[in-house]
Amino acid sequence: MTIDVIVVGGGPGGSTAATMLARKGWRVTLFERERFPREHIGESLLPASMPILEDLGVLGELESAGFLKKWGATMVWGSGSEPWSWHFSETNRRYPHAYQVWRPRFDQILLENCRAHGVDVREGHQVTGVIFDDGRAAGVRYRDDGGAEHEARAPMVVDASGQGGLVGRALGLRETDPYFKNLAVYAYFEGAERLPSPDENNILIESYPHGWTWAIPLHGGWMSVGAVVDSSAGQAGVREKGADGYLSAQLREAPHVTGMLRDARQVRPAAVLRDWSYFSEHVAGDGYVLVGDAACFIDPLFSSGVHLALTAGIHAAAYVTTVLKDPTMAEPTAEVYRELYHQQYGQFRELAKLFYATNRSVESYFWEARRITGAERDGITPRQAFVRAVAGQPPQGYERAVLDRGTLPQDFADALDELEQGRAERDKQFRALLDAAERLPSLRPRAASGAWVTRKPVLTDGEFAWGNVLITPERPEGTPVSDLVAALFQRLDGDRPLGQILEELAAGVEGEQRDRLLQAAVSALHILYVDGAVTGIESP
Ligand SMILES: Cc1cc2nc3c(=O)[nH]c(=O)nc-3n(C[C@H](O)[C@H](O)[C@H](O)COP(=O)(O)OP(=O)(O)OC[C@H]3O[C@@H](n4cnc5c(N)ncnc54)[C@H](O)[C@@H]3O)c2cc1C
Repeated sequence: MTIDVIVVGGGPGGSTAATMLARKGWRVTLFERERFPREHIGESLLPASMPILEDLGVLGELESAGFLKKWGATMVWGSGSEPWSWHFSETNRRYPHAYQVWRPRFDQILLENCRAHGVDVREGHQVTGVIFDDGRAAGVRYRDDGGAEHEARAPMVVDASGQGGLVGRALGLRETDPYFKNLAVYAYFEGAERLPSPDENNILIESYPHGWTWAIPLHGGWMSVGAVVDSSAGQAGVREKGADGYLSAQLREAPHVTGMLRDARQVRPAAVLRDWSYFSEHVAGDGYVLVGDAACFIDPLFSSGVHLALTAGIHAAAYVTTVLKDPTMAEPTAEVYRELYHQQYGQFRELAKLFYATNRSVESYFWEARRITGAERDGITPRQAFVRAVAGQPPQGYERAVLDRGTLPQDFADALDELEQGRAERDKQFRALLDAAERLPSLRPRAASGAWVTRKPVLTDGEFAWGNVLITPERPEGTPVSDLVAALFQRLDGDRPLGQILEELAAGVEGEQRDRLLQAAVSALHILYVDGAVTGIESP
């Protein structure tokens, strides 16, 4: 049988990519070495994933599965030792909750959905290697559930094999992340006390001298509980005490989690995971694309893993569709896929670093070491990295919470103040101008230094197509913009008055359509000015 795309791995990343590809009409075969339901760590989801789960068409099933609705997070972190809570509704009105999922069932729902979309899902089939023809991925070798060896060929291979990272390891693409050399030890408990209402479904994150612990309530009555510690200290501790003994010793030092586990019984032996923060510079190449943990993994502090895997699944499916339809798009689209990946990964990484660096609730070597925010890769300072991470936007969500509760290093605090004040000031100036509209035509706006519009592949309806992208120093990977915004931006040379620019843009357009176009152009200018991509409006 002819296969268009082979997907390795049926976790959230693989099943999302496969479902989206099948929707586009491709013949997709997915190899998963386990039989589902299979156990997996990573139960706490983010509201940002809800639109993707909705798009996949599984929200109804998640609801019927009875997973607990997660409305927020409770933390012992920042400047005090008392728990504090924050709720997603503070920053996300459309999706004010996520779920605490039991991964065996959650992953099974996604995989069944994939099958229902026509994907040939082969559970119990382990991929043993990727076939490369002249350096191009051209298929896989696999072992079926009877132990027989086979080959399957396809023009594109999606590697969603998780931490194992089939292609990444074969091609030596992975770099470990020196900042997050942590280890996790975790287990499941029955009969644990929940947080007081209204936070009973929240994840609890409690920092303690050697690291931090999590407690995630699950719908079946169990609680997922784990500790994240320094990798070498953790390995030595596990060698000395065994995983169960080491986990108990860690939890005893976290008083809030200890309180919740007072009458609880451990129902699974403790498991240990280490060396799980890594990065791949190349995430797409000749005949392959990496998705989810197969590409990069960042510390679990923000519960970001499943979200990154789902998002990458969507983007990878669009990348593969684009390449299969038009191979000449492969290289520029691979670059955009890489940028999208690194932008999201970088955002969670910088925010996690900030979170670690701002915890003052406990004193110890673990926390002292994590307050050092040293020089970064690519010569970017921590301050620039953070501003980039929030993409020039005012901080929201977890970062907002830590800013309010944490003790921020001065350079981060200054960067944020500058960012927020600058935006507010520019917004005020532009609104004043709109109130005195007669001044608008004589303004001579100019593109800010380092800001320009270029052509790049942009994500459209499930594939990439050439489009306009606005590049700024904060968003070097660019933000897609409409033809109108591109035409406007290209005219912002500081010489031409705005009146003339608007005339040029509206040339040949009459009546109501003309009014709408001019209004849209002025609104776009407003946004560009507030974002700092345009100057020359301050002094008409
Ligand atoms: C300690 C810890 C806590 C975490 N907590 C959270 C959390 O609370 N929330 C969150 O969102 N994320 C969390 N994560 C991260 C999350 O578990 C992962 O990021 C997520 O599962 C990634 O999805 P994926 O599809 O890329 O990979 P996976 O879910 O790992 O799926 C990969 C699949 O590939 C299959 N496979 C592997 N090799 C082969 C092969 N050779 N052939 C065929 N099949 C293969 C595997 O069996 C597996 O089913 C946590 C991670 C850790 C380490």
